[in-house]
Amino acid sequence: MNLNRCSRCGCFFNSNNNVCPNCEQKDLSEMSTLRNFIEENGNASIENISFSTGISEKNLNRYLKYDEFSSINAESNTQGNLSINL
Ligand SMILES: [Zn+2]
Repeated sequence: MNLNRCSRCGCFFNSNNNVCPNCEQKDLSEMSTLRNFIEENGNASIENISFSTGISEKNLNRYLKYDEFSSINAESNTQGNLSINL
């Protein structure tokens, strides 16, 4: 059994997921919000997405590492903001 620490609430749980079962639904819901936002708006900075969707920048950076969003290029611009290009 792997003991993981939840990326959202910090509690420990037995699973290979990044988040505990309690937070999984919130993750799924935010990822669907993120997907919709990207489909509608395309290129945007992490800061902008966070402001518009209410998803924290920390969580956004985590979602963008998932396979589901691997087709999206996230690049840092000169200001250090992440920019997403479809
Ligand atoms: Zn949690």
